[in-house]
Amino acid sequence: MTKTKFLLQRAAGYLAGFALFYEPFMLFGNLTGRFLIETGFTSIHVPCARIPLANIITGQWQESGPTSLFFCLLLAVTSIWFGPLFCGRLCPAGGFSELLSKALPPKYQLDLAYLLPLTPLRYGFFVGFLFSVWLGLGVPCAYCNYYTLELLAGYLHTGVLISSSLSLLATFLLANVLLGLFTKGGRGYCSLLCPVGTFNSLCHIIGQKMPGPFKMQVRTNACVGCGRCAQACPMQAIELHERKSAINIQRCIVCGQCQNCCPVKAIRYGSNLQQEEPRHEK
Ligand code: SF4
Ligand code: SF4
Repeated sequence: MTKTKFLLQRAAGYLAGFALFYEPFMLFGNLTGRFLIETGFTSIHVPCARIPLANIITGQWQESGPTSLFFCLLLAVTSIWFGPLFCGRLCPAGGFSELLSKALPPKYQLDLAYLLPLTPLRYGFFVGFLFSVWLGLGVPCAYCNYYTLELLAGYLHTGVLISSSLSLLATFLLANVLLGLFTKGGRGYCSLLCPVGTFNSLCHIIGQKMPGPFKMQVRTNACVGCGRCAQACPMQAIELHERKSAINIQRCIVCGQCQNCCPVKAIRYGSNLQQEEPRHEK
């Protein structure tokens, strides 16, 4: 697939995500509302998996509406089988900060993978999120990047800012400016702070313990160690060891950027690819 076609395909995914979850379309809510008989779909809060995750932790899962629980289950099942496709192909909030990062050359951007131990911080934050909910400190909707994007979209659509607070403004700036525009790959919030993304990655990791589920995989025999995939990865989930690329599935969001830019087609997305490894490439 050409680079342009691939980028258009990714952009179409994020636009579809916007139409599914944001005003004025909210197609996901409208569709599930028809089948699950729930009429309360008025905002991104309803399908946001933070809330059912929090309710499950506190043992109050019944308090989540059917749309919330259905979406949480859908995320878990699709992430187990296909990887975090929601993050890599659909989530408008992640796509937006990644898009913003294209506005600056990498030399002006933070290299978080170099500065911080991203994987332990990511999972540590997730544990902290669950623990804070369990302690009764509430669900941090005020620190939700989905929600701040919804506020912006609503403002652009209606001219009315339905909610504003310093924490929401700080979240918007953190997710989209510091960890978006000024961060290599533009996915600093996804890499560190998004509980939904980390939940999806955990499901992906669990899926890889079973036969069948899909993932991105490098055919090391074919890899020539050029490093283009590592440069292109928005999650900074690729490292080179002895001139061979290695994907960290604890952060990979199966966006396909690496696969698309590899000059020797050494990266594939599929299931049980390990069995194809012995094939020798030129
Ligand atoms: S782009 Fe392809 S050949 Fe280059 S390091 Fe990555 S996997 Fe290897
Ligand atoms: S490793 Fe590849 S598929 Fe995974 S996040 Fe990075 S670029 Fe996307």
